[in-house]
Formats: sequence, structure tokens, C-alpha cells
Amino acid sequence: MDHFDVAIIGAGAIGLAIAQRLTTADFMQQRSIVTLEQEATFGQHTSSRNSEVIHAGIYYNPGSLKARLCRRGKKLIYEYCQLHNVPFKRTGKLIVAGEDDFAKLEALEQQARANGVVDLHWIDDTELRNLEPAIQAHSALFSASSGIIDSHAYMQRLLQQAEANGALFSPRSRILEIGRKGDRFLLDCEIIASGAPIQKDIYRFSASHIVNCAGLNATEIASRTEGISPASIPQIHLCKGDYFTYRRKSPFNHLIYPVPDANNTGLGIHATLDLAGQLKFGPDVQYVESARFDVNPDKARDYALTIANYFPTITTDDLSPGYAGIRPKLSGPGEAEADL
Ligand SMILES: Cc1cc2nc3c(=O)[nH]c(=O)nc-3n(C[C@H](O)[C@H](O)[C@H](O)COP(=O)(O)OP(=O)(O)OC[C@H]3O[C@@H](n4cnc5c(N)ncnc54)[C@H](O)[C@@H]3O)c2cc1C
Repeated sequence: MDHFDVAIIGAGAIGLAIAQRLTTADFMQQRSIVTLEQEATFGQHTSSRNSEVIHAGIYYNPGSLKARLCRRGKKLIYEYCQLHNVPFKRTGKLIVAGEDDFAKLEALEQQARANGVVDLHWIDDTELRNLEPAIQAHSALFSASSGIIDSHAYMQRLLQQAEANGALFSPRSRILEIGRKGDRFLLDCEIIASGAPIQKDIYRFSASHIVNCAGLNATEIASRTEGISPASIPQIHLCKGDYFTYRRKSPFNHLIYPVPDANNTGLGIHATLDLAGQLKFGPDVQYVESARFDVNPDKARDYALTIANYFPTITTDDLSPGYAGIRPKLSGPGEAEADL
């Protein structure tokens, strides 16, 4: 039976970053690492269905793990992009509020300060008009260190480095069950034939360590791992977010965010750019029972109404359905944001 020191399950941004990092760690030299991915290639799930924003660390509760990791992650990801030629842009971001939301924006600024975000500042009317003439707002904060990244190029570079350092990548490989024998894990992996119906061809191998990076399926895999008590596996709530694409040339050069929804369930329907300059709006917040990725075109009207609070000239006809992503959340509808 084949044996690996580490088996990483899932080749999204997280699994690939772990593979890359492990292959460069001193203590891992001469160790064997494999990353298994059920799809034909990497990054087909949540990692390619998001806003591609490098967040500054504004929104999370001060002292929380998320607040600390977001701020540290921002620094590290900019450094990584620069060092390894991953396309990115420090666009900066405006958080804008109407008169009724001014108090919320003030609270957000104080929270950001408590989180150690030092480059967030108020801008006045004149500055706002200069930066984004199409925006209408009572007040605005500018976050200089927010930016965007080419997430596909990022994942590709991580994979290239992991492979160059000796790690294996195994696409079309779905982990079904994980048993235990002594101090080893025994993994049953279904090999998925290219373009054909799934063949029940099971490859069994062993690993000393497993890293579960299976995103939406992570809890399912945990529950199929011998020795993990069901009580220790958190319940995940699937929280769908839809995007609409702006049909015209973008009037914006920065990311534009409203004040976030209550409980930080979502950041509000914001405007983000990709590195080609395409503008999109989203995501909204919709808890769903099972993963699905349709975008209902009829929602364009509601999107336009919401966006008009800060971009008054938008019309329903300016929007076409884009894509959807699903956040695997630890908190359900109406619950406070979970940290760990
Ligand atoms: C709408 C939305 C907007 C977001 N916006 C941002 C943003 O602007 N900035 C930001 O930083 N983050 C954002 N995020 C969060 C970010 O996208 C995720 O944190 C990140 O992509 C998670 O990566 P992952 O590797 O954990 O998951 P995934 O990308 O889902 O990877 C998991 C992988 O595991 C594989 N897998 C699953 N089961 C198995 C199995 N049994 N065997 C083998 N492989 C398996 C899957 O095929 C998949 O490739 C957003 C998320 C959503 C949903």
C-alpha cells in the first residue's frame, strides 16, 4: 500500500497554501505530501466563487481569531503576490453610508482601530467626488490597504511551487472514508474517470497525517473519519451569495462597500472590480439547504434598488446574472458571528 507523510484533502486556496507552505518548511524536508482533489483541476469551488478582495481586517470582533488572521493574512498575501508575480492591485476601498447609517459607520471605524487597522480614514465630500464622482453618500471611510487579487493565478502559483518542491497533486480523486490502523490513517479514494460516469474504482493508501481542507465538504469528511467524535464536529450552515455583472464600463476605480448587514452576516451588496476592470455587484445573503449555484435573473431589480442607495444612476438593465458562491458558516441565520 502506498504511504504518504501528509495527505491534504481539497485543492482550494487553503489546501494549496498548506501544501506550498509544508513543502518549504525545514521539518518537512524529505517528507512525502499529496494533495487530493475530487475535481479535474484545482480551485473549482468556493475559491473561484468569491469577490477576490484582499480584506483589511475591519469587520471582525476585536480580539477574535478572524480579526488577527485577516490583518496578518493581508500582509502575507501582498508579500507573496509581490515576490511570486501573482497579479494584484491595491485599489483601496470606500465604505459609504447614507445619513441614517452614519452612526454604524462611526462604530465600524472604531472597531477597525481596535483591530489595529491604522490606515482607515474619513474622507470629505470633495475628496469623495474626486475619487468616485458616481457615488452618492452622506459620509465615507477610505481603506487604503484593501485590494484585489487574481485568485486563479494565486492558486496556480501555490500548486506550481508545491509540485516543484516534490509534493504530488492528484485531481479526480475523491476521499470517501478514512479509517485508522495504529498511528496511520487509511484513506479510501474514488478515482473519477475523465468526462465519464463515476467509476467505482477505489484506491486505498495510508497517511501519517491528514489535513482536511474540503471546504463545503469538510464536516462530511470529518464525520467519515474513524476516531473523530461526532460531538466535536461543528455544524455548517450553507450561506449562498449571488453576483450580478455590470454590463457597462465601470464608473469606479475603487471597491465600494455599504455598511455591513447586522451580525456581519454579509458585507452588504458591494461593488468589486476584477483585474481586467470588470465591475460586479454582490454577494447577497441567503441560507440554503443544499449547495446550488443558480442566479435568479429576477433578483436584478432588488439588487438595483439596493445599489441605488450609493450609486443612484444604476438601473435593472445594467445588471446581468453572474455567478454564485456558498459560504460554509459556523453560525446560522440570526446568530452572532462565530469565531471558533
Ligand atoms: C460569496 C463569497 C464571497 C467571498 N469573498 C471573499 C473575498 O472577497 N475575499 C476573501 O478573502 N475571501 C472571500 N470569500 C471566502 C473565500 O472564498 C474562502 O475562504 C476560500 O475560498 C475557502 O477556500 P477552501 O480551500 O477552504 O475551500 P474550497 O475552495 O471550496 O476548496 C475545497 C476543495 O475541496 C475539494 N473537495 C471537497 N470534498 C472533497 C473530497 N471528498 N475529496 C477530495 N476533494 C474534495 C473541493 O472540490 C474543493 O476544490 C468569499 C466566499 C464566498 C462564498
